[in-house]
Amino acid sequence: MIETLSVRDLQGEFKADEPMARHTSWRVGGPADRFYRPADIDDLSHFLASLSEEEPVHWIGLGSNLLIRDGGVRGTVIATHRFLTDMARLGETNVRVEAGVACAKLARQCVRWGLGSAEFFAGIPGTVGGALAMNAGAFGGETWRHVIAVEVIDHHGERHWRLPGEYEIGYRSVVGPGAEWFLVAELRFAPDEAASTKAIRDLLARRKATQPIGEPSCGSVFRNPPGDYAARLIEAAGLKGYRIGGAVVSDKHANFIINAGDATAADIEQLIQHIRNTVAAQHGVQLQPEVRILGEAA
Ligand SMILES: Cc1cc2nc3c(=O)[nH]c(=O)nc-3n(C[C@H](O)[C@H](O)[C@H](O)COP(=O)(O)OP(=O)(O)OC[C@H]3O[C@@H](n4cnc5c(N)ncnc54)[C@H](O)[C@@H]3O)c2cc1C
Repeated sequence: MIETLSVRDLQGEFKADEPMARHTSWRVGGPADRFYRPADIDDLSHFLASLSEEEPVHWIGLGSNLLIRDGGVRGTVIATHRFLTDMARLGETNVRVEAGVACAKLARQCVRWGLGSAEFFAGIPGTVGGALAMNAGAFGGETWRHVIAVEVIDHHGERHWRLPGEYEIGYRSVVGPGAEWFLVAELRFAPDEAASTKAIRDLLARRKATQPIGEPSCGSVFRNPPGDYAARLIEAAGLKGYRIGGAVVSDKHANFIINAGDATAADIEQLIQHIRNTVAAQHGVQLQPEVRILGEAA
């Protein structure tokens, strides 16, 4: 709970019982008890410092890798998109980018600056903060390969800088030293006069040809197991088009679950479990979800 501030003292946008379906790419999810979009970093620091020690705090970027259950989220959700939005070039190769910047915007700006190897960010429909939390990657590129340093904030609103060596970085996995969240990243890219928006357009076209872009999903639901592809295993198990309630395994890409219009989070979670059971029974492989699951059942 908020202990030392009244709602009137807040400069950002505070909402109680905010439906999280408005903030996730699957368009499902019950209400967050408290939802806050800070005005700026100082406002965020004050807000965090005003919370009681026991208040659970969750962060959301663009909600493109989150399954929020139908009963919603207890505690406070901090939203970064549309607030941490600055981006600047530092010297020849480095970029300072705030956590709420959309990855696609970072990719396009790097092209304008003549910096290469950032194009892969164009196809990731999340924020830089989400990409740092997930070590998001595509087409051979991966977020943390470019990180020089990150600025983080903790539950007390205290900020400090950290280096990549302080994190365990893996495939779609980042384990940090404590309960803290990303505010800013300093990233390094290679100077590349040939960097072009055509490369981005080609990459997006390749995605559109193979993935159900434009339909509500969270991208790949499962991590690829070592030496194989989750999509191949799911398709071989005959699950393309399999449906539970409003949740359907995509016909275009078997590692995508689509909200066909009226799915609940429970439909999606049951389908995730059904896929795991079926693939384990048929192939002997335990698929691990890439998507983060949060909140309480209805
Ligand atoms: C159509 C589609 C295609 C996709 N393709 C890819 C792909 O090619 N490669 C890929 O890697 N992913 C892909 N994704 C998944 C998703 O876009 C990425 O995981 C992305 O990095 C999530 O960013 P977000 O801002 O949406 O994070 P959210 O979904 O909002 O959050 C994801 C996690 O990050 C945490 N988080 C968010 N912001 C912060 C922060 N500032 N500090 C600390 N933690 C934070 C959240 O608490 C949560 O645990 C795809 C998703 C969709 C819908």
